[in-house]
Amino acid sequence: MGFSEILGHQRQTETLRLALAKGRLHHAYLFAGPEGVGKRTLALALAKAIHCAERVDDFCGQCANCARIEDGNHPDVRTIEPLVGKKEISIQQIREIEKQLNFRSFSGRKKIAVLDPATLMNLSAQNALLKTLEEPPQDSLLVLVATNTGGLLPTLRSRCLRLSFGSLQCAQLANYLASKKGLKREEADFLAAMAMGSLGTALKIDGEEMQEKRRVWIELLSSLKAGDYRAAIVTAEGLAKDRDESLKFLEWAGIWYRDLMVHAVTRGSSELVNRDVLARMEHESAHDRLEHSLSLIAQTIEAAAGIQRNLNRRMVLENLLFNVVGNR
Ligand SMILES: [Zn+2]
Repeated sequence: MGFSEILGHQRQTETLRLALAKGRLHHAYLFAGPEGVGKRTLALALAKAIHCAERVDDFCGQCANCARIEDGNHPDVRTIEPLVGKKEISIQQIREIEKQLNFRSFSGRKKIAVLDPATLMNLSAQNALLKTLEEPPQDSLLVLVATNTGGLLPTLRSRCLRLSFGSLQCAQLANYLASKKGLKREEADFLAAMAMGSLGTALKIDGEEMQEKRRVWIELLSSLKAGDYRAAIVTAEGLAKDRDESLKFLEWAGIWYRDLMVHAVTRGSSELVNRDVLARMEHESAHDRLEHSLSLIAQTIEAAAGIQRNLNRRMVLENLLFNVVGNR
């Protein structure tokens, strides 16, 4: 274990390592970026590196301190999230943390609190935390983890050093899934693409369920014959029933049309996400023209954005599927 095994986010990791090695860590950080890319993991890695009994400015993942931090029961390292059954992080939780940060450290090293997701602090909790940040207790370190920092008070944000996290690259994520989770290469590539660069999402997706869904979706798209607007309407209605499902379908359809296009251009399969169903894809690409696939990629993105803006789902999907049958 150690910083070198952290998945992605090299620049953010280096920034923290350097500050740690030079003894110049700030009192408060804001880790901002998409869900499931490893923000909390890096915050806890930093905590381990501060407390590790085996390594200096890095962590072993094995010693008692590293293990306790991993299990959430190191006396100097706390993770704060809403209590069971609650939707918010309360002012009482923040006061409790402030008290603990002011105690003498058990180990003589830093006392650390990770707030995740920090945006679930209600306003009074945020104001209480602001007071702590204005006069940070000695040897304390706060890490606020958030996907969308808009819900945090600007005064709070401005007292934290912000590290922005991007999505993981698909290839990085696929490598990780293949080597650490023992997935087959093709399965890992498919999951990584479907998870859009989020390890958290990739680990939550049920690979078999996803493949079954895809089988249904391929069937559905290929059954739409040129000019059959009636079938397009029926299909759109079915897909529109569930918001999450329709978004998943669009995500996948975008990747499918991209695959068709890549296949049409390269005639190869190594770059394809859906290459485990190559025969099916070849069959489809035989009667979908290149420009058609290209415009459908853009349209699936547009349709997903429309659904996210709460446009009528049936209308959005009909529009897309009319284009599928209209230009065949
Ligand atoms: Zn250790």
